[in-house]
Amino acid sequence: TAHATAAAIRSAEEHSAHNYHPLPVVVATAEGAWMTDVEGKRYLDMLAGYSALNFGHGNRRLIDAARAQLERVTLTSRAFHHDRFAAFCAELAALCGKEMVLPMNTGAEAVETAVKTARKWGYEVKGVPDGQAKIVVAANNFHGRTTTIVSFSTDHEARDHYGPYTPGFEIVPYGDLTAMEAAVTANTVAVLLEPIQGEAGVLVPPAGYLRAVRELTRTRNVLFMADEIQSGLGRTGKTFACEHEGVVPDLYILGKALGGGVVPVSAVVGDRDVLGVFRPGEHGSTFGGNPLACAVALEVIAMLRTGEYQQRAAELGEHLHHELNMLVGAGAVTAVRGRGLWAGVDIAPGHGTGREVSERLMERGVLVKDTHGATIRIAPPLVITKEDLDWGLEQLRAVLG
Ligand code: PLP
Repeated sequence: TAHATAAAIRSAEEHSAHNYHPLPVVVATAEGAWMTDVEGKRYLDMLAGYSALNFGHGNRRLIDAARAQLERVTLTSRAFHHDRFAAFCAELAALCGKEMVLPMNTGAEAVETAVKTARKWGYEVKGVPDGQAKIVVAANNFHGRTTTIVSFSTDHEARDHYGPYTPGFEIVPYGDLTAMEAAVTANTVAVLLEPIQGEAGVLVPPAGYLRAVRELTRTRNVLFMADEIQSGLGRTGKTFACEHEGVVPDLYILGKALGGGVVPVSAVVGDRDVLGVFRPGEHGSTFGGNPLACAVALEVIAMLRTGEYQQRAAELGEHLHHELNMLVGAGAVTAVRGRGLWAGVDIAPGHGTGREVSERLMERGVLVKDTHGATIRIAPPLVITKEDLDWGLEQLRAVLG
């Protein structure tokens, strides 16, 4: 009954901090690309937990791996070794073509870890004077919600009234190579970028930008840290969004889909000459690299190794972008950006705000989420069928009328 939805939302409003503004749907169960609410109504999930659910809800392989591990051992802390840890690190390093993994839990923690890695590397390897390290980041970035990370955000909602802010960051316009060249100075230890900016509205940088930043950082002895938390692990049609430009960063920052939507798993992945800076006691996490996380992530890595999810994202993504671009032609949409099964869609004035379009889609059984007023973000699970994707697009066309 509608009563169940209203009661659940009222209670959540009453007893939870209002740091989100969810669509008024209360999900009870989910499978594949579909979710069912407490009233029994079904919805096509076109957001996939902001790309954490690349392999779909209730993925059999992931659930089986989790269940088997639940019966064995779930947590040891890093005070002891456990029998899934080595395999997880070795397999993830291999997937990335790197030597070492530093496991954490959430995306923000992995970004924090990368920031700490770069600073430590800067002081101990590059020889930057202590306390002087600079990290160059992009405007309109989204890397998480911790105090240090919001210190280099340009989004007022994310940043205001959380100071004093962590120093040591310089912000340059995303996609502007000249600005990047000027910002990278002697004490710069790293450049931190999303290869495609997700929260900013699925912004793809100009062709050649990532390759040029890679070249610049290489020649100036600066680490290139790619935040692939949202863009990575199949979403764009390749394992990593950097691959579209043939770019290999020094550090991959991974999260979201690495835990298959089952458990939070994040990691920083790089070579020994960088991640080797850590010695015992200098960084850590109680839950980082726990047995349950490793078991699920190992299954995620095995699925990615087949290449089939990347291929699905590439093929269905081409179809998705073709269909969305037709809406630009029809005038209901002003711009479509993205790659693979990932799109930022700017709604034309007069066709509703992003929120309104999301709410109208919800009524028709499709779940997406707005960002920055006029934009909706589309990122269905990579396991979505072409028929379901087409049905979802039909609903979008209908609400944009
Ligand atoms: N980095 C990027 C690119 C993200 O998209 C996100 C989450 O949306 C994060 C970092 C933060 O991840 P988490 O919410 O797990 O801390």
